[in-house]
Amino acid sequence: MTEPIVLPAFENFGDKAISGLETPEEAHAATQALLKDDRESGRPHIDGPGETQVTLERGIFRDGTWYRDAEVRELNGYDEEAIAAVGSGSAPHRVVETLLTRGVVSVGREQMTRKLAGELLIGDRELLIMAIRRATFGDTLEFERLPCSECGELVDLTVPLAAIPFVHLDDPEQTEYEVPLRKGRKALLRMPTGEDQEQVFNVRNNRAKQDSVILSRCVLRLVQEDGTEVHRPPAQSLNMGDRQTILQFLVDHQPGPRLADFTFTHETCGEEVKLPINLAVLFRGL
Ligand SMILES: [Zn+2]
Repeated sequence: MTEPIVLPAFENFGDKAISGLETPEEAHAATQALLKDDRESGRPHIDGPGETQVTLERGIFRDGTWYRDAEVRELNGYDEEAIAAVGSGSAPHRVVETLLTRGVVSVGREQMTRKLAGELLIGDRELLIMAIRRATFGDTLEFERLPCSECGELVDLTVPLAAIPFVHLDDPEQTEYEVPLRKGRKALLRMPTGEDQEQVFNVRNNRAKQDSVILSRCVLRLVQEDGTEVHRPPAQSLNMGDRQTILQFLVDHQPGPRLADFTFTHETCGEEVKLPINLAVLFRGL
């Protein structure tokens, strides 16, 4: 058996993880504990592939209508090879893109394409990845001999995907958000998409610049205290406090599964234990 490739954390920008892996040691332990026996024996331990229909939070807008229905499919060996091939490269977000372009059949009336994947909100992309997981491996994550990060005892755990925290959009058709800033200013924002994510990944090793990429793309207008508006302000012209406020708003309000926030209560020690779920856990190391 070959070593599983290291899959990237779920999507994030700059130093603001939207979801996914924030404590690598715990996630590594989780990956190791995941169906260890199954991986070693090759014996399936799965509650059958699940549904292939999913309803997105935002979806796509076409000819005056929002389309939110999407269809995914079960991944096969060709997909597994394709994903492993990009996983060994230097561009981790390509794994997410490959999962989406192969595992999603359609959104609304359109066949899935790279361009369409880029148009989707990051939260919708993660929702689709969860749906591909469900279609491929079923609806539960099984952990065996997972070390409790609080007391060290080894835990066997079954986690239904539905137990992973999820953020819904209050109004799926609202595409602009107003955020109060310091000194009476406010910003009007849109939520980041896969295409925004792509642009962030093109900036290497400079988190401030990555933040600037997201801010320059997602801040539509800045309203000054006197009511004057600046259309698409340069991200560098925003002060540091406002930049942080805006980025935090984008993180907090992005819809979709919050894989990094999953916790369970360990009965033996009574503690709430963090168990961040990442792609390698969802797809069993691939
Ligand atoms: Zn414990």
